[in-house]
Amino acid sequence: MESRANLAIGLLNTLRLQDGAVFDQLRAPADLVSWLETGLSRAPGWAAPLREPPAARMLLTEALRLRGDISHLLEAHRAGEAPAPQALYGLNRVLAESRVSLWLRMEADDASLVELEVGERPLAYLAPIARAAAELMLGTDPARVRRCASGQCSLWFVDTSKGGRRKWCSMATCGNRAKAVRHRGRLESV
Ligand SMILES: [Zn+2]
Repeated sequence: MESRANLAIGLLNTLRLQDGAVFDQLRAPADLVSWLETGLSRAPGWAAPLREPPAARMLLTEALRLRGDISHLLEAHRAGEAPAPQALYGLNRVLAESRVSLWLRMEADDASLVELEVGERPLAYLAPIARAAAELMLGTDPARVRRCASGQCSLWFVDTSKGGRRKWCSMATCGNRAKAVRHRGRLESV
């Protein structure tokens, strides 16, 4: 469940502010294929059929559209507002392509139920991400779906901390930077 939620957040975070400039990780079809293989923990080559043009190009267009729809839906969810019907339709359109089969994998020290996408159409490859977004909205307190408080960063995250007061995408980067700025401010005002 947790990793599924991260899948939707992960797609949103492929578009981000980096040092004040917009950076898009998904610029070419190959970027999407490798992002999918990593995000869904698939072996390289799993999405090989998608590397063929025009399927690859089409899937990239669909993924960018899905990213926009999920972003809108999460913003609305956070604000407690009804989402735009076209964003909801966009998500449902991808969900409708979901074709999942299950496979029990048992090894000496590890067992898990693996979900495999068996859709024939490329859109089926995006269905796990659409499902992750739907489950995120159903199962998470809207106030805990946030964007980094740094003006230099736009990353999304789900606050799973106990107190629920997390502000930064990561303490190691944005949190520390903010702390350093506060510290400098204090020194300058002395
Ligand atoms: Zn950040």
